[in-house]
Amino acid sequence: MNDHILIATAYDSLVRIYVAKTKNLVETSRNIHETWPTATAALGRLLTAGAMMSFMNKDDSELLLKIEGDGPIGQMIVESNHHGEVRATIKNPAVYLKYNDSNKLAVGNAVGLGLLTVRRNPHLKNAFTSSVNLVNGEIAEDLTYYFFLSEQTRSSVGLGVLVNEDQSVKQAGGFIIQLLPGATDKVIDQIEKVLEDIKSVTDLFESGLDTHGIISKLANGTEKLLDIKPVRYFCSCTKDYYFEAIKKLDDLVIDEMVHEDNGAEIICQYCKTKYHFSREELEEIKESKKNI
Ligand code: ZN
Repeated sequence: MNDHILIATAYDSLVRIYVAKTKNLVETSRNIHETWPTATAALGRLLTAGAMMSFMNKDDSELLLKIEGDGPIGQMIVESNHHGEVRATIKNPAVYLKYNDSNKLAVGNAVGLGLLTVRRNPHLKNAFTSSVNLVNGEIAEDLTYYFFLSEQTRSSVGLGVLVNEDQSVKQAGGFIIQLLPGATDKVIDQIEKVLEDIKSVTDLFESGLDTHGIISKLANGTEKLLDIKPVRYFCSCTKDYYFEAIKKLDDLVIDEMVHEDNGAEIICQYCKTKYHFSREELEEIKESKKNI
């Protein structure tokens, strides 16, 4: 089945569970950004989280997640929306670090410490921004901390990306379990017990479970499915978008493009599409500014 988010309530509607299957999304991201394994895993985890979180609040149409760590990867941004469209940027995709004592990709070391920022409806008037310090750069724990601190929601987040020998993506996915108001200690105990048995979300996929099977395991059989949402890597950029972006530049900068560079080539940071603007087009942009 294609990439999707499965959403359910569980434990007598006191808990909400999101489970994501994002193998194609993360593989597409790897191909676009040419990420090395640890960068594939780090960005893949953030992409998976962004995909799930865009379906959390009914009032939100868009979501932006930004991680600014002091590790070799540098800044990562994920944007997602209600249509299941997710895209990302990464400062340094060429990172391949493993933990010394295992074969595990060292995402925490590659991300480092710094800030996690969540922005809801970034392009609208009711934008909401909140930043928290990274706990360990592994992303799942960082988001758990964010939900607790900024949204006063207790949750458990699992995110995972498994990479093949040839560096392609073998498995990618995640879950977010959120306690709703009224959740009792008994429910928390039950969930903790279930989580004790789970090594990682990629292990669950490797064992042959699909998203429904994973929800059922997390819910201990109490799940009531609410929705299923397809997700994919998609960038909405167009030449018109960059036309408008250049229009916002100072005339002097546009003149420099015209005379010194003989036109402009802009590469979208989200999908690597190249847009060329000829001298004539740049002159046209300058002209159109006068009509504002
Ligand atoms: Zn683009």
